[in-house]
Amino acid sequence: MKILVAVKRVVDYNVKVRVKADNSGVELANVKMSMNPFCEIAVEEAVRLKEKGVATEIVAVSVGPTQAQEQLRTALALGVDRAILVETAEELNSLAVAKLLKAVVDKEQPQLVILGKQAIDSDNNQTGQMLAALTGFAQGTFASKVEVAGDKVNVTREIDGGLQTVALNLPAIVTTDLRLNEPRYASLPNIMKAKKKPLDVVTPDALGVSTASTVKTLKVEAPAARSAGIKVKSVAELVEKLKNEAKVI
Ligand code: AMP
Repeated sequence: MKILVAVKRVVDYNVKVRVKADNSGVELANVKMSMNPFCEIAVEEAVRLKEKGVATEIVAVSVGPTQAQEQLRTALALGVDRAILVETAEELNSLAVAKLLKAVVDKEQPQLVILGKQAIDSDNNQTGQMLAALTGFAQGTFASKVEVAGDKVNVTREIDGGLQTVALNLPAIVTTDLRLNEPRYASLPNIMKAKKKPLDVVTPDALGVSTASTVKTLKVEAPAARSAGIKVKSVAELVEKLKNEAKVI
């Protein structure tokens, strides 16, 4: 079975994000970039399926600038066999990314596509779902357990109030939730070996996909600064303030 894993380059989760002075987006100059954490979980799951003998090949794909090759090399160091960068300097919305991923799916014919449930920069939580709609594949989102059984994959999903298990016919799309697994770190020898693994670069044009945007970002603003709290001297004072100032009781 071939698995395709989608990997996004995002601002590292430890970075304190700053909004650009002109409110057009967030500052990316000299900011540490990494693989989206939910994509790390997707790579880990694919590698585990290969280690179990379920998968025979893992291909990672990223849509982004030249520098996204760094995140693809990380994926290769973690156990992915080869990588594809769909290179674009533009910031694309989810539908454009999903259309590009669909073109890669058409070419690669994977049995399973694993994506993160969400990219931590844009918090869209929609690329996997859009890819499922475009390909017509079954989807199991927010996966906390993935088990391939014959021509089906059983996905346990984290939903409000519990867990739901669904059986999907292959080919299928899975998006990863936080509890699916704990990603490994790449070892130094594997980082060295990854430099020699194949990484193809293609353009959206070569895939025949128009990436014209249907969404325009009007403004990006930092959240309002929280005002300082106060200390109350007694429970009676707290109740009085909740009643008369905050008016919440
Ligand atoms: P989103 O819908 O933007 O929150 O992203 C959900 C998942 O879709 C991510 O975790 C990735 O697996 C995939 N994805 C989104 N954007 C990209 C991209 N530019 N390149 C590769 N994968 C992406």
